[in-house]
Amino acid sequence: TVAVVLFTADLRLHDHPPLHAALRAADEVVPLFVRDPAVHAAGFDAPNRAAFLADCLADLDSSLRRRGGRLVVRSGPVAREVRAVAADCGATEVHMAAGVTGYAHRREERLRRALGADGVRLRVHDAVVTAVAPGAVAPTGSDHFAVFTPYFRRWSGQSLRGPLPAPRAVRVPDAVRGEEPPSRAGMPGLSPQLAEGGETAGRARFARWARADLSRYEEHHDDLAGDATSRLSPYLHFGALSPVELIHRARERGGAGAEAFERQLCWRDFHHQVLAARPDASVRDYRTRHDRWRGAEEAAGDIAAWREGRTGYPLVDAGLRQLRTEGWMHNRARLVVASFLTKTLYVDWRIGARHFLDLLVDGDIVNNQLNWQWVAGTGTDSRPHRVLNPVRQGRRYDPDGTYVRRWVPELAGVGAETVHEPWRLPAERRAVLGYPEPLVGLADGLARFRQARERG
Ligand code: FAD
Repeated sequence: TVAVVLFTADLRLHDHPPLHAALRAADEVVPLFVRDPAVHAAGFDAPNRAAFLADCLADLDSSLRRRGGRLVVRSGPVAREVRAVAADCGATEVHMAAGVTGYAHRREERLRRALGADGVRLRVHDAVVTAVAPGAVAPTGSDHFAVFTPYFRRWSGQSLRGPLPAPRAVRVPDAVRGEEPPSRAGMPGLSPQLAEGGETAGRARFARWARADLSRYEEHHDDLAGDATSRLSPYLHFGALSPVELIHRARERGGAGAEAFERQLCWRDFHHQVLAARPDASVRDYRTRHDRWRGAEEAAGDIAAWREGRTGYPLVDAGLRQLRTEGWMHNRARLVVASFLTKTLYVDWRIGARHFLDLLVDGDIVNNQLNWQWVAGTGTDSRPHRVLNPVRQGRRYDPDGTYVRRWVPELAGVGAETVHEPWRLPAERRAVLGYPEPLVGLADGLARFRQARERG
């Protein structure tokens, strides 16, 4: 017997329930990845993620080859391709991971219909992309938690399966044809310091980070210059690492750092269960409707300066320039730049979210859109009117200005006292820095935000 495993946001061999189940059920398995033009049409294959995806696919292919198999890559509408592959090899089952986005729901529906017509069974596995399946825990009277802390309490009480080992051997039927996996070589428009993708690179990064930094994660995760977070988000986005396995590995090490890391992984699950219940929250305000945002035309100049990292607020600019260079940004900086765009510049969160999705290598409809909503005050945040002051945030999380100087070379020679407020320098000094004056006064921005809020 033959089974197909459709890989989606789970590009790994370790702890892979669909692959595990398929190998138990069938003699031969087709590991399949489909490059669906719908992803391109939605503008979701931005260069950084396309390159990281190519790395993941190449790594998956070589891991499968070491086990006697290979990855079959096809291009075309996903249901059509899966159906054709299943027909070519006489598969009776297709296994895949459950997804939460609108796209994932439509994909599952189409597959069910297409495969059902041929009598092929579709088996969708939970808790592959997340540690706990969306909907597995819910408050009384609702299908999802809108507040993190009670969710975290219930989530922590769930028993997780033990991590599944990677298979030793995979036999792929000869008859199935595929194309060469894509390669990042020659791809245009990549951030110059983009991380390397793939399960192998992800596992190595986790091992290194767990040894060196996990124990100090709780204390240092907000230290912008220390850069002590795991940087595993792109591997989690593509499923090159399993959240279930990471939680087990962290628990084995134990301590406050491991607990804090697990809590961040719970944030990821939290947002997944929100979006699973409310797929429209990827584009529409989740809770508080906010109709008065300034849009692309009204705020064109401010938006352009923000995107380029030329707002005149050093921490904001540092974050946005890190994003351009690495395709990644520290969480603390993400909070500050998002608060600045939505609360200080009073620009629609969707405009910022789009820019993030254009560049972030971990750019993810679930985590990106819902974190943006959280900061913008339209989402699940219980303090929707909170505004992060970029000067105070800088003094607190980058006290000597190392992070700012790393990303804003104009300020390289400015000392810690003024690096977050270069407008306090004498005019003649400012004139030679070549660093922009603040786009807007913080107090003016705040006043506009408050007025708009009062108007509803
Ligand atoms: P660590 O601190 O090492 O955390 C470990 C893992 O926990 C992360 O890899 C991530 O998977 C998860 N995690 C941590 N914080 C969050 C969070 N707030 N929400 C959801 N998961 C979290 N994360 C994305 O993966 N993709 C996005 O597109 C994304 N967009 C964001 C946009 C904004 C405006 C904000 C404020 C946050 C966004 N985040 C996003 C969440 C967070 O900033 C990143 O997950 C984190 O910075 C990744 O770095 P790390 O892997 O070193 O995190």
